[in-house]
Amino acid sequence: MNNFLAIDQGTTSSRAIIFSPSHEPIRDSQQEYALSYPNDGWVEAEPSDILRTVKETLENVIKQSSEIISSCGITNQRETTIVWSVETGEPIYPAIVWQDRRTHELCKKLKDNGHEEMVRAKTGLVIDPYFSATKIKWILDNVDGARKDAEAGKLRFGTVDSFLVNKLSKEELHLTDVTNASRTMLFNINSMQWDEDLLNLFDIPRSMLPEVRSCDSDYGTLNIEGQNIAIKGVIGDQQSALVGQRCFNHGDMKSTYGTGCFLMVNTKKKLITLDEGLLTTVGYKLNNEINYAIEGSIYSCGNIIQWLRDKMEFFKDASSSEEFLNQNGFSNNIQFLPAFNGLAAPYWDSDVRGGFYGITQDASKNDMITAAFKSICYQTRDITELLIQNNIKINSLNVDGGMTANKTFCQLLSDSLMVNILKPANIESTALGACIVAQISQGENIDSIKSRIEDKYEPQDNLRDFLETDYRLWRNYIEKTISNIK
Ligand code: ADP
Repeated sequence: MNNFLAIDQGTTSSRAIIFSPSHEPIRDSQQEYALSYPNDGWVEAEPSDILRTVKETLENVIKQSSEIISSCGITNQRETTIVWSVETGEPIYPAIVWQDRRTHELCKKLKDNGHEEMVRAKTGLVIDPYFSATKIKWILDNVDGARKDAEAGKLRFGTVDSFLVNKLSKEELHLTDVTNASRTMLFNINSMQWDEDLLNLFDIPRSMLPEVRSCDSDYGTLNIEGQNIAIKGVIGDQQSALVGQRCFNHGDMKSTYGTGCFLMVNTKKKLITLDEGLLTTVGYKLNNEINYAIEGSIYSCGNIIQWLRDKMEFFKDASSSEEFLNQNGFSNNIQFLPAFNGLAAPYWDSDVRGGFYGITQDASKNDMITAAFKSICYQTRDITELLIQNNIKINSLNVDGGMTANKTFCQLLSDSLMVNILKPANIESTALGACIVAQISQGENIDSIKSRIEDKYEPQDNLRDFLETDYRLWRNYIEKTISNIK
């Protein structure tokens, strides 16, 4: 039987995995690359690093493989913005990463000028530097000659999927899929088209934009190590995890704990807009059917663990963080404000920065680490509370991403949310989603794709009251801090 190749281009690393038709990972290669932080709130990556690490991981898995590969699916960090020259193919500026906040002032101005409602109605998004539109505008306004070239049709924009398809396909296609398009703030999720009003608002020439296709479409041919492999699927990373977790039914919900954290609920054909800062987005388009989703985004998640490891030097590797995490969630009244780059849902505040509160002479490293982990659980709770208020029932939460290797964290999450946490056997749901999209593209029946849950965490009743009070205290600390800096 033929296998499938998944490319998973993430914020901190690129990965290639060969999956069997029954979704066993057969071969895997991963490479990290560096981000740079040239200014407060700025986050950049070199497109050449992104491409190089993707190519090298592809070569590594293909070289060692004697099996036939049926097709390839691509999943990627979303929103990250690359602009390159049609003529040379070279990017004119580093990739502006989704976490980057440099367009904060511009977004504020657009909101003050009353554009929020129109943008929300058309895109399902809030006006925020997170999405691609203002990042593209920044490049056009700040790179010498860029606007003139863009207007002359000499520049292309792409999110990372689009850049990779352009660079990896023999045909040098300029395409993107509906999920990535839905994160640019230029795509109308009602009409499923690029939107002229939005292009005018952000002052972006139409000619820069890629053609938008379904997730299970043709995206050209990848030529690697002498093999030609059809690229049969493209899907943004969070939507890919939704597919990888088989959240195909109404109300199915997943949360991915990687560098950032993203909770997503499938609402099928229903486009639901919530007022409180949760996003409406395209879940996927497969077999010609659009499924919408609600998304709660949290900017700082696994990067908090990286910071505790690399800057605070509290532990040597992410996995040993578990030894310092107090199982009962006790942090000696210390609270952590997880706002390295501001806060996303439901606060949407770019100005607030991180902090610890409540440190006494007695405070230990364990207390600070536990407070940091709890802040990730509590940010998730902020989102689940909003969903509950909007009559979206939560029975259980499917989790994945690097952090879910940490069992103590998963238990604490269950205790903080008071719901069952389900972890699949393969926590690489994101890469798996890309494989599944490629499979569906080649005729696999969506209903035959079933999930395998490995671990289930159930809430412990004895912690309910403590964590309820602690969550309220944390929330109070966040809200007071935000109102103090206003
Ligand atoms: P991404 O795809 O966003 O690069 P991953 O899903 O690969 O992220 O997850 C990596 C993140 O998970 C890192 O930020 C790392 O700090 C965190 N992480 C990995 N293992 C653990 C662990 N055992 N405990 C806590 N955090 C972990």
